[in-house]
Amino acid sequence: MHALDETVRILGDLIAFPTVSVDSNLELIRYVSSHLDALGADIEIFEDDSGTKANLFATLGPRADGGIVLSGHSDVVPVVGQDWRTDPFEMGERDGKLFGRGTCDMKGFIAAALAVAPQFARAELDRPIHFSLTYDEETGCLGGQALIKDLMRLGIRPAVVIIGEPTKMRIIEGHKGCYEYTVDFRGLGGHGSLPDQGVNAVEYAVRYVSRLMTLREELKSHAPADNRFEPPWTTVSIGRLSGGIAHNVIPNACTLDWEMRPIRKADGDMVKSAMNRYVDDELLPAMRAVSPAADIVTTIIGEVDGLEPMRESEAVRIVSELTGVNGTDVVSFGTEAGLFQQLGISTVVCGPGSIEQAHKPDEYVSIDQLSQAVGMLQRLVQRLGV
Ligand SMILES: [Zn+2]
Repeated sequence: MHALDETVRILGDLIAFPTVSVDSNLELIRYVSSHLDALGADIEIFEDDSGTKANLFATLGPRADGGIVLSGHSDVVPVVGQDWRTDPFEMGERDGKLFGRGTCDMKGFIAAALAVAPQFARAELDRPIHFSLTYDEETGCLGGQALIKDLMRLGIRPAVVIIGEPTKMRIIEGHKGCYEYTVDFRGLGGHGSLPDQGVNAVEYAVRYVSRLMTLREELKSHAPADNRFEPPWTTVSIGRLSGGIAHNVIPNACTLDWEMRPIRKADGDMVKSAMNRYVDDELLPAMRAVSPAADIVTTIIGEVDGLEPMRESEAVRIVSELTGVNGTDVVSFGTEAGLFQQLGISTVVCGPGSIEQAHKPDEYVSIDQLSQAVGMLQRLVQRLGV
């Protein structure tokens, strides 16, 4: 069967697994596992603590370092409250487009990789090809973070990762990170007429916010020249600040939600350590001088690293050769790319479909885009064949 027809057939199967992030992905993992097992792949399946989700990492070709990873996330975003023309978990075709939840984000790429897998299996490869599938990407790259730890533990060292998120097959060499935090300020309540006898949680939260705003301005001058991010510096933004009950009551609690979008990990580290120092050296001592029980507790909601463009990138070089696309781009959405890059693996994002269609009702991928992805992977077979 032609690889494109096979891609469409497999994509239909993948769409029928309703792998919304909150639900299990095990049936899909079993399906992929048996497909690759039949081709003689080495397959590792890593379950999460709940036993309801798993990552899969499979290898064809020589069992050696320096392989190329085709990476995708198995989960999709929910369809609740969205107005779909057809069943989102039953793929339908119309006007050269394949509709269904996950067609573009990002089961299309996974289907193409599985459809070309028999060609990888038949070829005499000079370096390994890996298939990586993760869970919970849409909810903070939880599966990706676990997978990275397992790869390190097992000493698996690929050289290149291609993440098939929908980029219309453009080569994406960079995106910002996304760090999210909730900070709980625990003070001491009291009467508004006696401010010195309480620890005003809202006022301390405001001082914290104010320090963040100062850092935000500093970050603008830290940005490396010529970077293509929009805006071209690391941003900080306050999402929610809530606390207090009335004019004349000292609030004993306040909660702050904030986010940061680092263009490089160093900026994120700088902000985090500056805020930790500010809390430890100034805010907490002042709060505890009045009430020893006062506290500031930070919860990390997620710290998804960005993908930093590199001057020399094997991943960009290979994908340029495979696609014939010259030039690279950066995007504003996040992926698992930064996780792999932090391991020292050359990483690029390139896949079929457009992010415009992702997460929306009537999500689709065009057959033309899938065909381009299949072409890229078939050229990879030729490239790796000896
Ligand atoms: Zn995605």
